[in-house]
Amino acid sequence: MTPGWLGPEITKLRTAFAARRLPHALLIHEAPGAGGEWLAGWAARLVLCSNPQEAPCERCGSCQRAAQEQHPDLNVIRPIEASTQIRIEQVRELAAELALTAHQGGYKVGILTPADGMNRFAANALLKTLEEPPQGTLLLLVATQPSRLPATILSRCQRVRIRAPGRAEATAWLEAARGPGDWGRVLEVLGTAPMAAAASDPAAVVEIAGEVRRGLEEALAGGGDPVATAERWARSELPLRLACVENWLTERIRGRVTAGTDFTEVRAGTHSRGPGESLDLRQLFGLLDTVLELKSSLDAPINRGLALESLLRGFSARAA
Ligand SMILES: [Zn+2]
Repeated sequence: MTPGWLGPEITKLRTAFAARRLPHALLIHEAPGAGGEWLAGWAARLVLCSNPQEAPCERCGSCQRAAQEQHPDLNVIRPIEASTQIRIEQVRELAAELALTAHQGGYKVGILTPADGMNRFAANALLKTLEEPPQGTLLLLVATQPSRLPATILSRCQRVRIRAPGRAEATAWLEAARGPGDWGRVLEVLGTAPMAAAASDPAAVVEIAGEVRRGLEEALAGGGDPVATAERWARSELPLRLACVENWLTERIRGRVTAGTDFTEVRAGTHSRGPGESLDLRQLFGLLDTVLELKSSLDAPINRGLALESLLRGFSARAA
């Protein structure tokens, strides 16, 4: 199921390939979850397909093996297990692999995703391959933050920019690709990242989002058991739960900003207040910082239960 919003990029790549003008390295710069990895896979099938006239035909053995990432001339490099970084050894292995002759006499493809998960050393290990690519090499670097890559890498890749689809477009695609579901709600939780949504179980996302909202409202009211809630959150679906907390906070920040209030606005109000209105903007931003910090340290060996408990206490302590 081709994501419609990638149409222009697909056409450009197809045209370049047909004219034998495909560059040997592409940097696919995507909005998070907008389908960069999907496009990289498509480009791999484009050059590996056994029916060049209609590539990628999606039917031949090459297309099918490539789609399953089991084609001998396709190497997909991702961070290993829970890491967010691509290691130098992985890049060296890829470079060695690309230096060999293609099994099927055509292209050899390397996909690095997320390429901005390469540290400086890993990126340097890729440089020689980018400078002197073996014949028939196609390197596809997928990145949401290419500015994290060294300029020496960026200058040797042709850039493909992918925008995120609008909400309606994303929902329509999810329905076509995955069938009916509360996709609007799922996108609210996961952001406008249709690829993340496509990989999710919509019913589970909606359920967890509801559970998190109830947990926050409980904490705000000064009730609940922060220790038990923190332990439960730390045990399952933590990244998703943090995304829910982040959304809850940004929604309220956005609401406050749209309402034209500012940082000096305080909690007192004469109208009836919805959950979270007891928090002022500064407090909302403070809590948001804590959530973002937690999100970025998911790799680190910290005590998540404790960190979450302190976050929840932040909600209740500030609600007076
Ligand atoms: Zn094919």
